[in-house]
Amino acid sequence: MPNAAPQPLTLEGLLWRRERWTPGALVLRGGRVAEVLPPGRSPRGVPVFRADRVTPGLVDGHGHPSGLGRQLGRLDLRGCASLDEALSRVASAPGDGWILGEGWDQERWEGRPWPTAEALEGSARGRPCYLRRVDGHAAWVSEAALRLAGLAPGTPDPPGGRLLRHPDGRLTGVLLDTAMRLIRPPRPTPADRERDLARGAAHLADLGLTGIHVMGAGDEELAAALLLEARGALPLRLWLYALPESEAAARLVRSGPWGQGLVRVVGVKLFADGALGSRGAWLSEDYADAPGERGLSTLPDEALDLWLRRADDGRFGLAVHAIGDRAARQVLDARERSAARPPLRLEHAQIVRPEDLGRLRRLAVTPSFQPLHGHDDRAWAEDRLGPRRMAWAYRWADLVREAHSYVLGSDLPIARADPWEGLSAATREPWPGGWPLAGPMPRQRLTEAQALRGYTTGPAQAVGERGPELEPGARADLSLWRVDSAGRWHSAGTVLHGALRPSP
Ligand SMILES: [Zn+2]
Repeated sequence: MPNAAPQPLTLEGLLWRRERWTPGALVLRGGRVAEVLPPGRSPRGVPVFRADRVTPGLVDGHGHPSGLGRQLGRLDLRGCASLDEALSRVASAPGDGWILGEGWDQERWEGRPWPTAEALEGSARGRPCYLRRVDGHAAWVSEAALRLAGLAPGTPDPPGGRLLRHPDGRLTGVLLDTAMRLIRPPRPTPADRERDLARGAAHLADLGLTGIHVMGAGDEELAAALLLEARGALPLRLWLYALPESEAAARLVRSGPWGQGLVRVVGVKLFADGALGSRGAWLSEDYADAPGERGLSTLPDEALDLWLRRADDGRFGLAVHAIGDRAARQVLDARERSAARPPLRLEHAQIVRPEDLGRLRRLAVTPSFQPLHGHDDRAWAEDRLGPRRMAWAYRWADLVREAHSYVLGSDLPIARADPWEGLSAATREPWPGGWPLAGPMPRQRLTEAQALRGYTTGPAQAVGERGPELEPGARADLSLWRVDSAGRWHSAGTVLHGALRPSP
């Protein structure tokens, strides 16, 4: 909880109350909504903040804020139009020690030359560098990095990978696919982890979020979160779903959810399968573009049954990653045969068979889905599934209709973190410039009210809390928005337990 009681504050604008926009003013006192007033009636002597729109605080229902912070902290080489431009960005990398970066693409450079370790020497000044190509399938490293890893002309190519070599056999400093793993930058220290989470959390608050459900948190991430909270440096709430092998998960089993302030440990994250793009999603029939393949099953039934019982005993939640239709069915089947009824979420819920849809409500399973994935996967999803099964995929409106509650999120940093992009991808309100594209299934479009519910009451219900509302007595967690002439929302700031944090 923020320490000092925040000063009273009035917010004026269009208020999202009872699922419609109403002009008015909210008076905040003591961290709560004290009054809701019609326009022009704001109390004297209380500072006023004007926003175009005021919503309950938006919560991203599935994300990885430390991963986002790590990504933001790496050298960004995207968009470099030449080798020289990439080198000058390397030369300006702050700090000392390893330079970690990503995003270079030699296809954009004159003559399309692979870069080399030698070229890096002037810019890296002896620092070890590990720079991933834009597609993640190649690393460009410096001579110091080659030396530290003990890679030399005599090093053989590993299975599934290649070390590029000069005609005389010397390594060029480019590693392809599995060869990328021959060099491992050092593991992050506790200070690195704290910095990563702080950076990710600040970025999310800047985007207008007041909270996030952190999926697959390890003990180091929890430790970083608690340190930041103790220091008063956490700008949004974190609800953590711990990795099953973590000490945090063991504590959930022993004594249930804990945390009273901004950091709460509420459940365990499990994985039932992989991802669709890499054909790891577990399907009940063969991939359309890979006959004989049905993806990966990564969670034995016995383990799932055991976690359902433990979660029921400990009164904590389970969030199970399930992208393929077979994985979704495994989770529903486990729920069906178990007497245990802990809060249970189906993370991603990307492909759900028609006969399984109706089981969601009956079995009280909460789908948690990320509308941007539907957009980002569009180029290849139908190759994987074929036209018949595409109708079972990204069926957001069906999930909303068939489930007792649901959660929307981004899966940041895999997808973009801006909640407005997630809301738009769900409702597919196009704006000038053509993004988001018209979806393949207009009937799966959500209304604005449905999408906002997925960022407000949905995430609250999933963790057994009351959602923030713009009603007297409610906790003052709010998102404030500026709307541009194209109708796009930009964060104007957030209010966390009554304390205003304007966006930059
Ligand atoms: Zn995720």
